Amino acid sequence: TVRLRYAPSPTGHLHIGGARTALFNYLYAKKLGGEYILRIEDTDQARNKENAEVGFMNGFEWLGLNWDEGPRVGGEYGPYSCMERLDIYQTYTDQLLAEGKAFHCYCSAEELEAEREALSAKGETPRYMGKCRNLTAEERSAHEAAGRKASIRFRVPDDQVLKFHDMIRGDIEFESNGIGDYVIVKSDGIPTYNFAVTIDDALMKITHVVRGEEHLSNTPRQLLIYEALGWALPEFAHLPLILNETGKKLSKRDESIVQFIEQYAELGYLPEAINNFLALLGWSPGGEQEIFSMDELIAQFSFERVQKSGAIFDSGKLAWMNGQYIKAAELDRIVDLAIPFLQKAGFIGADYDRAWVSQLVELYKDGMNAVSEIAELSQMFFATDVAYDEAAQAVLSEESAPTVLAAFRDQVQELPDFNADTIKAALKDVQKATGFKGKQLFMPVRVAVTGQEHGRDLNITLSLLGREKVVNRLTQLVQ
Ligand code: GLU
Repeated sequence: TVRLRYAPSPTGHLHIGGARTALFNYLYAKKLGGEYILRIEDTDQARNKENAEVGFMNGFEWLGLNWDEGPRVGGEYGPYSCMERLDIYQTYTDQLLAEGKAFHCYCSAEELEAEREALSAKGETPRYMGKCRNLTAEERSAHEAAGRKASIRFRVPDDQVLKFHDMIRGDIEFESNGIGDYVIVKSDGIPTYNFAVTIDDALMKITHVVRGEEHLSNTPRQLLIYEALGWALPEFAHLPLILNETGKKLSKRDESIVQFIEQYAELGYLPEAINNFLALLGWSPGGEQEIFSMDELIAQFSFERVQKSGAIFDSGKLAWMNGQYIKAAELDRIVDLAIPFLQKAGFIGADYDRAWVSQLVELYKDGMNAVSEIAELSQMFFATDVAYDEAAQAVLSEESAPTVLAAFRDQVQELPDFNADTIKAALKDVQKATGFKGKQLFMPVRVAVTGQEHGRDLNITLSLLGREKVVNRLTQLVQ
């Protein structure tokens, strides 16, 4: 059975790129009836943010990307965060040292920096040149006696071609000579990413390692560790970069794009829309279909159909897609999501009329790209005064307006019951009495009452506004 994992570093908020990586792992695991594992890669302590993993997990739960093993749920291969696995790494560090496949390095940060600068100045790739590769026992003791702290480096073999197959990119080769002996355990005893990830993937029996393209150059370093420890390689896939709309690599600081899952949740995006959109960020099943349920994604997903080139993040498409999901969603669900936005805008309080709010949301449900838009869309329902812009004033100064508005106001005041049906009948009566119909009839009414020339169903809009507001607004305009 296949086992895939997503292994975020808890250094910030759940980013759309991370969510996409998690999704692709999840889809493939589910497609093949395997397991999807979540692991927290917290070895980079300087960059870890407190509780970031909680945010990640909440984000995944919101998206419905539930993990079969990992924090919160446990599993046979735990613990599922690196900092709880230090003794495991120690075993393999000792083994590699004993076999001469790793060595202690006493170079200081300054010495290493000087080496890098010298190589750069010569136009060579900055890398570790092997100063401590072959220290004698005496040299080591001298460093230890001088109180120098050692890091542990992997001894990279010379003149090897490191090959692996990538499910998206095909066969890939790296020269071992360009790599330089790299640190696997820092001088504080904490393993580096490349070391921890390899041990974790191997011991957790991960069959497919799927991650972002930015990790491509780490893979040869990890291959060497698999080889040194005598472990079989998993399959690899490196997902295409995410690009902004100008075709540049998306930077986390790019403020033109909403980039964190939490923000989408706060804006009233639906998780199904996010999953659907992210699935198409580099993958396409071919054909014209764009809306896919999770089950369809699972059934159709394959790495053969993931592109190598960068995938453009089209926010407009995501918004459109979210609109499609809002339209298709149950009204009650959208009402639940809309209520906090209406409350935050001060439009409704803690004590509101659910039936009325439902009708209001229903009126706008088909035209929203995010539930947060409900506040702006429905603003005029809650305003005390209507403002008339130039276009509105033009409508109100048309010939039919005073007659129509006065007649309608009188009708409205008389109605025994004020609802969409009686309003419709009242407008019909106004038509008969005044002889104005169509635009000449409806436009002045709509503009007078809402301030807008366009909007939703007029009868429902008026009924939701309520008789008092309608009469007041009409009375401001006619005697
Ligand atoms: N911690 C790495 C990241 O967040 C995971 C890389 C990997 O999947 O191997 O990018």
